Amino acid sequence: MASILISGRIFTDSVDRLVGAGHAVTHQTEHTPMRREDLLEGIRTADALICMASDRIDADLLDRAANLRIVANVAVGYENIDTEAARHRGISVTHTPDVLTETTADLTIALLLAVARQIAAADRDVREGEFGAWGLIQPRMGVDVHGKILGIIGMGRIGTAVARRGHHGFGMTVLYHNRGRNLAGERELGATYVSLNRLLQQSDFVCVHVPMTPSTDHMLGAAEFRLMKKTAFLINVARGSVVDEHALVDALHAGSIAGAGLDVYENEPSVHPDLIALKDRTVLLPHIGSATEETRRAMARMAVENVLAKLNGQRPPNLVEGF
Ligand code: NAP
Repeated sequence: MASILISGRIFTDSVDRLVGAGHAVTHQTEHTPMRREDLLEGIRTADALICMASDRIDADLLDRAANLRIVANVAVGYENIDTEAARHRGISVTHTPDVLTETTADLTIALLLAVARQIAAADRDVREGEFGAWGLIQPRMGVDVHGKILGIIGMGRIGTAVARRGHHGFGMTVLYHNRGRNLAGERELGATYVSLNRLLQQSDFVCVHVPMTPSTDHMLGAAEFRLMKKTAFLINVARGSVVDEHALVDALHAGSIAGAGLDVYENEPSVHPDLIALKDRTVLLPHIGSATEETRRAMARMAVENVLAKLNGQRPPNLVEGF
């Protein structure tokens, strides 16, 4: 019997699966993430940890773990884990790719449409009694999405799923930028590989889907926003620190871009007050990219299967790169 620590609230069927396999499970019953001190205490005796993207799994924490064999992150991004420190200690690290791709792409398109058509602001108008007579020239006139140029920074799993929706659903022309080419995406979607600068100069909607790494930290800052069209929108459903939030606020104030749809922020859960104040130019979501019942259950199941594989002496199916 192994001891499994789960740092966040999780679905009962996931706990049942682990208990049914003969393991002892300690899990968070509150909605809030496990307190750091409880995590530091619980890790001492755990053989496996199932953790959330908001948990910091660093060398200090791993040093306290006498028996730990696997850290299973319930997220595809894993910048919250010091993977080098885990590797040094012989601890496997897994994540949850693929199962959240389509759901996160759906949300990206929702944000894109919301900023283009001022959905959140128009909803507020109706609730606040600002539903005036229909007029040809309305207060809430947005911009078209169909037929526009969609720029994807990071055309991997989620970026490709967004490009597919944009191209097939809205007849958009797709430009993309990665470090390497995505030839399958080019063939399927007629997507054009361009430099980051060219993507920023030509796109009407710039969607960010790169992982958070040292090479993507503040990838978009003042210089990049100056390259964008004044009529263009930024959509970030990747990680907050990919965008320099202060530079974004400045760009919005200066009118050098038209607006932004954000699901992620540099210092979550706090949000730059100017992004909140700019309520006609921004649509702000609380990091809900993968948050559907079906997908969150699938993510939990995937983390559980990775843990069970490791505890059974097998190779976990969703090891992160480099393991
Ligand atoms: P993925 O398949 O690994 O795609 C990442 C893409 O980014 C790849 O095409 C990669 O291509 C590109 N890339 C990486 N580093 C780059 C760099 N320095 N410059 C340019 N391109 C770079 O990952 P995914 O499954 O699509 O997930 C992407 C990210 O979305 C995750 O890491 C996570 O942070 C975020 N996410 C957020 C939510 C949410 O709730 N908001 C939900 C799910 C995922 P190259 O390797 O060729 O550069």
